[in-house]
Amino acid sequence: MIIALLFSASSMYSYYRDLEVVRYVSATIKAVGWTSSELEMEVLKFDHALTALAAETADEEFVQLHFELLWSRINTLLQGEESRPVREQPGVLPILESLSIQLARWESRIYALGTSDSAGNKAKQRAQVMALRQELSHFRKLAREINVDSFSGTNAWQQLDIIQDIRLRSSVYLIGLLLSGGLMMLLLLRENRRNRYLAYHDILTRLPNRMYFYQLINKALRDADKRNAGLAVHMIDLNGFKAINDSLGHEVGDKLLTVVAQRLQECVKVHGHAARLGGDEFVVIQPLSLGEDPKPMATQLWQSLIRDVPLPAGNLSPQACIGTSVYPEQGTGVSELLSHADTAMYYAKHSSTVMVQCYEMGMDERRLRKQKLALALQGAIEQDQLVLYYQPIYELEGGAIESVEALLRWHSSEHGVIHPLEIIAVAEHHGLAHKLNEWVLLTASRQLSDWHQAGFSGLKVNVNISPSIFMDGELASTVHNVLRATALSASSLVLEITEDTSLWDTKGSIATLEQLRKLGVEIALDDFGTGYSSFSHLRQLPLNKLKIDKSFVADMTTDPKALSLVKTIIALAASLEMKVTAEGVELKEQQLQLQQLGCELGQGYLLAKPMAAIDMTAELQSTCA
Ligand SMILES: [Mg+2]
Repeated sequence: MIIALLFSASSMYSYYRDLEVVRYVSATIKAVGWTSSELEMEVLKFDHALTALAAETADEEFVQLHFELLWSRINTLLQGEESRPVREQPGVLPILESLSIQLARWESRIYALGTSDSAGNKAKQRAQVMALRQELSHFRKLAREINVDSFSGTNAWQQLDIIQDIRLRSSVYLIGLLLSGGLMMLLLLRENRRNRYLAYHDILTRLPNRMYFYQLINKALRDADKRNAGLAVHMIDLNGFKAINDSLGHEVGDKLLTVVAQRLQECVKVHGHAARLGGDEFVVIQPLSLGEDPKPMATQLWQSLIRDVPLPAGNLSPQACIGTSVYPEQGTGVSELLSHADTAMYYAKHSSTVMVQCYEMGMDERRLRKQKLALALQGAIEQDQLVLYYQPIYELEGGAIESVEALLRWHSSEHGVIHPLEIIAVAEHHGLAHKLNEWVLLTASRQLSDWHQAGFSGLKVNVNISPSIFMDGELASTVHNVLRATALSASSLVLEITEDTSLWDTKGSIATLEQLRKLGVEIALDDFGTGYSSFSHLRQLPLNKLKIDKSFVADMTTDPKALSLVKTIIALAASLEMKVTAEGVELKEQQLQLQQLGCELGQGYLLAKPMAAIDMTAELQSTCA
């Protein structure tokens, strides 16, 4: 704005400067014209006075008065600063100078007039007057020419041309200035609008950014108050976005974010707003009418997000979870609404069944507990406060211990005994999975190394691995380092992995498993039958063992279908040259039946409960004795 004002002011100043020049030149023309007219007038008056004297209708004094006036005029024209434009007219100065000289010559003759009253002298004086008039006629002609020239002479026309030229130039200049000024204003406005857009929008998705979101939600809250209605805040988070970015590249990640933004916009249309708060975190503001349920919109958002995203390399199936909070019931301010929507979203993220969650009382406390647990778990890992229990896996035929499964136990001084599933969930969702798996691997391997040294050299240890750490690509190197540090042979280690379709769909996790197989580590598919494994997975994955889920084992003596499934799994494992372990063997009957079916290995409370390392050592000693 200041620039525009300065530009306008300087444009107008330049224009007025030109007008000043025009005015000055015009004034000069007028002054020259007026002065020339005055000169001619004085010459004519003097001539008239001489004529009147000759006709005796005026006296000598009248002639002398006009002589003086004429001389005075000539002097002014020769010396006065204001007369300079006249003097500067071509040919004027010599005329004025010669007229001045002539007047000086005439002076004595003019003042000698009327000094005698005799008739002879009168006639003589008349003759002198006529002579003076005769001499004056030349100057009268010159004064006339000066006067005519001042109005219509070449110089006057030149000056008029100058004026015309200046006027034309000024107009063109002014139009040019106005056009360029207008253009500059347009560019400034456009730039200003662009800067404003960039300040308030996310460049990638074109959605309002965090700053703009706060303005939008504050306005939406004011509108809701005016309408005496409500408002829903839907917090949206994409599952596994970091893994997508890491494994498929940022280009794919950006494409996914753009598609997500478009889909949210399509759902919201003109009713409400979608914004990107950062990373893979989006939020939707939905104005609600009185008593309206926000769940249908949350579900619609979720359904639109999980549709396949076509990519050159194939379709990507995004997963998302949504947390919703409602104004005014679940928060009266922006931060409270956001915090509650975030808590609900966090709840959905950590649930395996709920993907769309509305905020409920008590969720905050549960979330706080998880956060505290995560902090405590980190400390427990660093300070070696976790404990591994070991459950033996027996050869059903012969009863020898084939291996032991390392199972995590944590008795927190602050939170009490924490269930292993909760420990794993907390670790998974707070970025501690890698650290935790590393600790378990190292501790279990050290223990196995001790047992090997104690003489149980054929013993193997099974370690459960969290699904998420297959994604980070460091598992193989971690295992390699642990084996080197504990001097264990790779064949002593069995990694138990769970079925998780989304995991096996990534090339990275299969590559990790193959690296592990190359090291010589055995891979067991845990809880087989409960997940989503397909025959193609069994063919694709480099597996050594299947562990039949305990739910089949539990029902096999009472449910023929369960029995049939167990038989099938055993046959399948045999045909794929995999060893099979039955989990959850709790009854003698089950053990016998499994033996009859050809199941090689068994694990369960009937055989042995998980036990501390020291008890496991005693069990090994007694079994081998
Ligand atoms: Mg297991």
